[in-house]
Amino acid sequence: MEHDFQIAIDGPAGAGKSTVAVQVAVKLGFLYIDTGAIYRAVTFAAVKSGIDLADSDAVAAAAAKLNVEMYFDREKLYRIYIDGEDVTGNIRTPEISRNVSTVAQIPAVREALLDKQRNMAAGGRVVMEGRDIGTSVLPRAEYKFFLTASSRERAMRRHRELVSQGYGVTFESMLEDIQQRDNADSLRSISPLKPAPDAIHIDCSETNVEQVVDFIVLKVTGGKI
Ligand code: C5P
Repeated sequence: MEHDFQIAIDGPAGAGKSTVAVQVAVKLGFLYIDTGAIYRAVTFAAVKSGIDLADSDAVAAAAAKLNVEMYFDREKLYRIYIDGEDVTGNIRTPEISRNVSTVAQIPAVREALLDKQRNMAAGGRVVMEGRDIGTSVLPRAEYKFFLTASSRERAMRRHRELVSQGYGVTFESMLEDIQQRDNADSLRSISPLKPAPDAIHIDCSETNVEQVVDFIVLKVTGGKI
């Protein structure tokens, strides 16, 4: 594949999108872009500057001036930088996870981030992951996938992940967090979480990562790699 090519992977929190999207990108030799990390970076930058997250104008101003970069380092870890500062760990704390959907609901924030995301994808072969990639950011993507899993399964995965990172969180609090984020993401008025009409749905509750990755790669290449 020589020309520009866009693959959109959307779905709710904890469906396994990131793991799948990274592996698809690696297998195809495409650039991987995690748009959730951008919303998290805005949230972190706003909290750090002491901005009241209820103050939409101030949060939108922080989004507009956000200078975010994301790439794999030499150890193949996906790192996020704001103004050159590594914030990879800072954007994934439970505090940021609780607040990110509030920030993502602000229309001016989404507006400010739309061009940033499109610029990141422009002129290349990308796997872009998020909530509204197929519907709003890259509506002309060659392939769109919508990954889901039951909320219990997703909460279980997030719980395991955070406990392994040393956070003392309970399964119940994870389930509540996931359900609240699902609601906030699905019900917001602008670019809600929903599959594009032409998206291919994949239920990841009972399937492992490898199967999902293989399915997507096969769809995209028609078995030509
Ligand atoms: O994917 P992740 O869980 O890191 O995303 C964090 C949050 O960012 C989501 O819960 C959602 O509120 C917001 N988001 C969004 N649109 C995207 C990607 C993420 O609103 N394209």
